[in-house]
Amino acid sequence: MKLFGIIGNPVEHSLSPVMQNEAFKYLNIDACYLKFKVEEAKLRYAILGAESLGFSGLNVTVPHKEKALKYVEPDELAGEVGAVNTIYFKKGVKGFNTDAMGAKMALEGVTDIKGKRILIFGAGGAAKAISYGLSRYSDTDILIANRTFSEGLKLANKIGGEAIRLGDIFREIKSVDILINATTVGLNEDRSLIYSKNLHKDMVVFDIVYSPLKTCLLKEAEKAGAKTIDGLKMLVYQGAASFEIWTGVKAPVKVMERAVRHAVERG
Ligand code: NAP
Repeated sequence: MKLFGIIGNPVEHSLSPVMQNEAFKYLNIDACYLKFKVEEAKLRYAILGAESLGFSGLNVTVPHKEKALKYVEPDELAGEVGAVNTIYFKKGVKGFNTDAMGAKMALEGVTDIKGKRILIFGAGGAAKAISYGLSRYSDTDILIANRTFSEGLKLANKIGGEAIRLGDIFREIKSVDILINATTVGLNEDRSLIYSKNLHKDMVVFDIVYSPLKTCLLKEAEKAGAKTIDGLKMLVYQGAASFEIWTGVKAPVKVMERAVRHAVERG
């Protein structure tokens, strides 16, 4: 049996085991995926220990994605983003960042992104992965609006985008095709950085926060008549990309999505 797992802290809430185990079962792959709470001081031992124990792969979640980079050989994208969420133990300890592809695939499920003007709220780990992924793999025009302007500017300069202040989003929003919230605003709270009167029906609004599933931003976007994408889509696609790295087999995305949505509905 092949062994996989997710390391993070906290990790109890992770939906990855449900999603990955369902995919293994569906494809008759003899494998098991578990979750492990790992303290920061033990991160190195956890990764090298998993390799010694014969694990095939790991996912890495908050707060270890950046620090894990030190213990892996990252591919080019993970190196650029500066964070790893997938480890594959094959001829060494290889690191990848599938958050970038996850977000891109979630968007491409509802809209063409080529040539689009995309406003991203945030400049943290997830915003970095998303903006690198979108700028690297498609011809897009990216605006970064972050609470700490200097961080937004740093990110915008790296990806060849433009940084704006959060206070200026209302001026820019009219020309935006796709809005992505990659901040923690809306996480377990009924609050948003922008409301329906400033959104418009011709845009796609993607909130990567998935607790609650229908965030305040998504409710406001619906009111404005915009197309919406919830955070579970990105979770599923980043998991599917990890699955494909580990197994070399096309991930059963629909099966994985059904499994996580059931798990969320059950609570
Ligand atoms: P992070 O690295 O801690 O970054 C947090 C970001 O939120 C920063 O840009 C921060 O701005 C901003 N922020 C925090 N509080 C704010 C406020 N009150 N007003 C405005 N901006 C605020 O976190 P992360 O790892 O990027 O994760 C962000 C969110 O995405 C989390 O809710 C996480 O659960 C979710 N996520 C979802 C997926 C998925 O698959 N759907 C994947 C990864 C993450 P400053 O720079 O000013 O602090």
